[in-house]
Amino acid sequence: MLKGKVVKAAGGFFSVRDKSGAEHVCRARGTLKRGKNGLMVGDWVLFDPSEENSVTESGEGIIEKLLPRINRLYRPPVSNVDQLIVVMSLKEPECDWQLVSRMLIFAEKEKLSAVLCLNKTDLVGEKEFAALTGQVDYYPYQILYTSAVNGSGLEQLEERLSGQCSVFAGPSGVGKSSLLNAIEPGLSLQTGIVSEKIKRGRHTTRQAELLNLKCGGSVVDTPGFTRLDFSKLEADKLADYFPDFDPLLGRCGFRNCRHISEPECAVRQEIGRSINPMRYDHYKYFIQELGKQEVF
Ligand code: GDP
Ligand code: ZN
Repeated sequence: MLKGKVVKAAGGFFSVRDKSGAEHVCRARGTLKRGKNGLMVGDWVLFDPSEENSVTESGEGIIEKLLPRINRLYRPPVSNVDQLIVVMSLKEPECDWQLVSRMLIFAEKEKLSAVLCLNKTDLVGEKEFAALTGQVDYYPYQILYTSAVNGSGLEQLEERLSGQCSVFAGPSGVGKSSLLNAIEPGLSLQTGIVSEKIKRGRHTTRQAELLNLKCGGSVVDTPGFTRLDFSKLEADKLADYFPDFDPLLGRCGFRNCRHISEPECAVRQEIGRSINPMRYDHYKYFIQELGKQEVF
């Protein structure tokens, strides 16, 4: 039996990539077809690629066992994702910093590592660039500055993608497909992020697909977090999803400090120092939002 990863699923068939990179068309054992253990793209499985497998007549292999999942996303439906690449453009469209924070909360919640990729650097002059980069001081995430047009920063992005399974996220028009195409010309994005735009609005559910990158990583062909429908998130837990506050844990006067109006709050004392003011504003905004409806 071989170990492999499901990279594509359609009509009851699964493409399973083995460690050499070869793909095998397989069917699945009955119990793996539906329900919680229903196979999905991203799953690690044990499979028997044998052509003479007696269970099937048409010569495909058979998936015998689903290996434990590290995580599972619902939109796009894919498992074992390592990281989220949040893409925003510095201009056209302007960067939506609050949406960045929302996506980063999502990443924390799903236990994905995250990187912020600020694209279209070619559209801003030096001064403007300096002002924009000043806004991300003390961001507790790696920040990449890229241009799909002039190629700057693409090596760093490729390095970050290498060996990982990544989901790209960000609003339409920021350059997600352009970045992937620039890194890897010929990537079959016609079935992916590009066509997702065409499909938007129609309620089609399609299986995600994992695209293999030359740098050794893979990328989900469907952008993530296009709808930020958080399952219930408690206001009390929100601070856990702000790694910005981690170094200050336990330093507030009150043990259950929410970092809003309590006296001797170590977090509030650090705003403008080790805490980015804009990030704190987002935290406060979300706390209020959660207070109103307990979900967002
Ligand atoms: P997506 O919706 O996030 O996949 O965005 P696209 O990749 O389709 O890009 C949207 C538009 O922005 C296209 O017209 C691209 O040519 C343009 N674009 C993408 N990246 C850059 C960039 O780095 N610089 C500039 N100037 N334009 C870009
Ligand atoms: Zn506090």
